[in-house]
Amino acid sequence: MLQVKDIHTYYGNIQALKGISIEIKEGEICTLIGSNGAGKTTLLRTIQGLIRPRQGDIYFEGKSIKSVPPEKIVSDLHIAQSPEGRMIFPRMTVFENLEMGAFSRRNKEGIKSDLEYVLNLFPRLRERLEQKGGTLSGGEQQMLAIGRALMSRPRLLLLDEPSMGLAPNLVKEIFKLIKQINQEKHTTILLVEQNAKKALEVADSCYVLRTGKIELEGSAKELQSNEEVRKAYLGEE
Ligand code: ATP
Repeated sequence: MLQVKDIHTYYGNIQALKGISIEIKEGEICTLIGSNGAGKTTLLRTIQGLIRPRQGDIYFEGKSIKSVPPEKIVSDLHIAQSPEGRMIFPRMTVFENLEMGAFSRRNKEGIKSDLEYVLNLFPRLRERLEQKGGTLSGGEQQMLAIGRALMSRPRLLLLDEPSMGLAPNLVKEIFKLIKQINQEKHTTILLVEQNAKKALEVADSCYVLRTGKIELEGSAKELQSNEEVRKAYLGEE
């Protein structure tokens, strides 16, 4: 479905990605793990068209998307992101935030049924539809950011650290919901996570990033039992 080929991305003179290639198959959950500053967010932003790579290309269903504007990546290709730090609209209500996620869609019935789906997935949002986004708790904002991304009916969903800052019971819940979205909606997911243990439990495939390069790749199962991964990312001795 998505192929990233030898991407080099810079911030000014600083090179954040140094020749990254990854492949995501339709229907799978692929996870990207790696330490702080490894380039995970930069890779998601490059796929989303928010930063242009200086070298390399990105193909979605065989076609290069390197020059497609970010809004068209969402509206025409159905690649949506739930960004790190949530980035919801704080002065808009929960309902308005969710509406924004469907900004490019015209099919009212489809939007309504997706809204129902999101509110069933996150009942807390249903209780707070008229509340301003900025007054939600951290966990609720996280749900809203994921819900908003789902409102664009993504075929590929990019999730940047969805479990960040959540209480342990909510972390468990979020990973369960990620799996549910993947299975019920046949949504392909690229999941960036600090919580490597949980990410590897739900994912099919995995890439480990280190200072802008792919250090390891394989099935989630393989990497779960990889000695290096266990020591560096799963906190085992
Ligand atoms: P984390 O897990 O800490 O969020 P990450 O793997 O997502 O890390 P990135 O945010 O992609 O890492 O950052 C990769 C590198 O690019 C880092 O060295 C970071 O300092 C640098 N970087 C990120 N954004 C910018 C920016 N706007 N300007 C300059 N450098 C940046």
